[in-house]
Amino acid sequence: MATLVLFHAHPDDESIGTGGTAARAAAEGHRVVLVVATGGEHGEVPDDLAPEESLVERRRAETERSAAVLGIQRVAWLGYRDSGMTGWEQNTDPRSFHLAPLDEAAERLAAILREEEADVLTCYDWHGNYGHPDHVQVHRVGHAAAARAGVTEVWETTMNRDELRRFMDLAREAGAPEEELFDPESPMDDGNPMGTPEAEISLRVDVSAFVDRKRASITCHASQVTDTGMFLSMPDDQFQLAFGTEWFIRPGAAPSPDGPVDGWLLPSA
Ligand SMILES: [Zn+2]
Repeated sequence: MATLVLFHAHPDDESIGTGGTAARAAAEGHRVVLVVATGGEHGEVPDDLAPEESLVERRRAETERSAAVLGIQRVAWLGYRDSGMTGWEQNTDPRSFHLAPLDEAAERLAAILREEEADVLTCYDWHGNYGHPDHVQVHRVGHAAAARAGVTEVWETTMNRDELRRFMDLAREAGAPEEELFDPESPMDDGNPMGTPEAEISLRVDVSAFVDRKRASITCHASQVTDTGMFLSMPDDQFQLAFGTEWFIRPGAAPSPDGPVDGWLLPSA
């Protein structure tokens, strides 16, 4: 059995991005560890926060519940602050993750990789899927930490831009109002479109048997309902279509000319 470490920027990224992979790995008997870089300080503040309760405490508790639902055995926190979206004043906070010195942040993650004797690490693609400064930093720190700890199996999670466009076309044909659709080719706040073109993606991972777990784990992040509510309101068949596949890039390896290959990150049981 192998040890899989999932590296993410904020609480809730683990369920949306890699919830199916986590649940599938755990179901196959692998050890799954989640490392979260920040406390998600700039997320939505829920109405029911108690006077003595902080948003970070709430989000940690939600993440622990999400991890339990997915079969993740350990949640570790790197202790940085959420940097906020590009251009926010919080970007300048010296405790923010995107300003963390690369060596320092990489060593914090590498220490966990060594302790866990990690076999496989996941991080994000070069622009963090949509340009969030903390997500871009997950890409940089993930690779630097893997090099320090000698982890050679590194995969970058991404979104399949062509698949998103096909979903939007289907939704439009089904009569969805234009304001509920978006153009996956339009620039996100860093100027790049979301995700990665299909031709540059290495691996298509089937997690269709685990979408119920994934949905349950997204539900655990109840404080962030403005972000997650849209997903949770999808009918089951739509949710299955949108979340039953997870996409990964193998950095340094040329993708197949036929597009993503069906496969898996871990040795089969
Ligand atoms: Zn995030």
